[in-house]
Amino acid sequence: MKLLLINPVSQFRKGFLNSDITRFPPLAYGIISALTPEHWEVEIIDENYDPFKFKEADLVGLTGFTSSIYRAYQIAEIYKKNNIPVVIGGIHASMMPDEAANFADSVVVGEVESVWKKLLEDFENGQMRKFYHGERLSLDNIPPIDYSIFNPAYLVSSTLTTRGCPFDCEFCTVTAFNGGKYRMRPVENVLDEIEKMPQDKFFFVDDNIIGYSKASKEHARQIFQGIIDRGIKKTWWSQASLNFAKEPELLKLAYESGCRLIFIGVEAETEEGLISTNKKLNKKIGVEKFNESFDKIREVGIAVLGSFIFGLDSDGVEDIRNRREFIKNANVDCYQTGILTPMPGTKTFKRMDAEGRIVRNNYPKDWEYYSVYDVTFKPAKMSMNELESEMKDLWYDVYSKKNMMKKFMSGLRKTKNVDSASWALATNFSYRNMMVDLFGDDVFTIESLIGPYQKMMKGDS
Ligand code: SF4
Repeated sequence: MKLLLINPVSQFRKGFLNSDITRFPPLAYGIISALTPEHWEVEIIDENYDPFKFKEADLVGLTGFTSSIYRAYQIAEIYKKNNIPVVIGGIHASMMPDEAANFADSVVVGEVESVWKKLLEDFENGQMRKFYHGERLSLDNIPPIDYSIFNPAYLVSSTLTTRGCPFDCEFCTVTAFNGGKYRMRPVENVLDEIEKMPQDKFFFVDDNIIGYSKASKEHARQIFQGIIDRGIKKTWWSQASLNFAKEPELLKLAYESGCRLIFIGVEAETEEGLISTNKKLNKKIGVEKFNESFDKIREVGIAVLGSFIFGLDSDGVEDIRNRREFIKNANVDCYQTGILTPMPGTKTFKRMDAEGRIVRNNYPKDWEYYSVYDVTFKPAKMSMNELESEMKDLWYDVYSKKNMMKKFMSGLRKTKNVDSASWALATNFSYRNMMVDLFGDDVFTIESLIGPYQKMMKGDS
């Protein structure tokens, strides 16, 4: 029996995936491969590296974020025409199961661990069902991830330590998909995996690596300490809440264990913006404390990647411009600057849909626009054109060579760590890569910068 797993990559907005440093292996397939019984052969086609080419299989597995789901459906249709059954799972299919069912013989709704073996058993007996609803199990049930199926060209590996979030920010799908309970993976399982990864850089894909309680901070502490005790010499980055700044000991340990960059969901620098996204955590900290908090993280040597959202219902043109200035002057080393996007399954989607404000609604084709770099809805306080044009100006400004170098120098001074400042610079370059994709008129990519250096190292002239 052969299981063919395909990682679809949207050909419409490839931006972030143009660069090796921001491509991550499709972790779900490493879990699925580990859950698949031995009598199955597992193969992967990963469009991050290999353009899709039809291959025979007994069963095809597909997953995708909303922005790549149309590509997944296109591939599913090819297999459908060839009478090869297809199963689709992942975040988008879980939020839109009926839509996914139009393209697949079976849809996994929710987390896959509790249903995968049953699905394969049913398939072998000719009784595969249309839907399988995964339970949110304890994370002891995540098997050791099978890294052998991933393309060795990946520069950065990934793993996870937790799932779930007790908050319910309006725009976010985490709580709908992984639930409101913060679940933690056994520390030893995580450490074994880090040792096993072939790469020396990795990403903890957690939505908040330190969590929301004493117990979750202790879990994070044990992981950081375990990395040090085992003598693992790898560098890593992850995501965390701004509360991380209040944990000096934990921050120090994170740095010593190899943390060089932390993604913080800042969202907005105004109280109105935070209220509009229901970002309670940041509101509690207080916008006036943001810069001080960023610096507390940077002072231990970890660079800060601040994530900001534009086009909130509280945003007019002036607010977009103010946020742009805030970012340029803020104590963050690099920044994600995305447009509010009503992802299916979120409260934002339900609200905007009910208000008739979603404009990109020719589904499934229009899901390609849901990458946070396109305007998909009618903003509350400006026109779509105004938001688009403000964002274009903003991107050219914040990702200009001048501003990125300014951030790099400030990062170097504050973190006193070349690695951290360089990761931040490379991250900004990757975001700038998006602009190449969006506007097609930029040659200042990370590859253009490091290309001559790489050639020199290889001895080419
Ligand atoms: S944005 Fe972060 S804090 Fe808010 S619901 Fe999502 S994961 Fe939780």
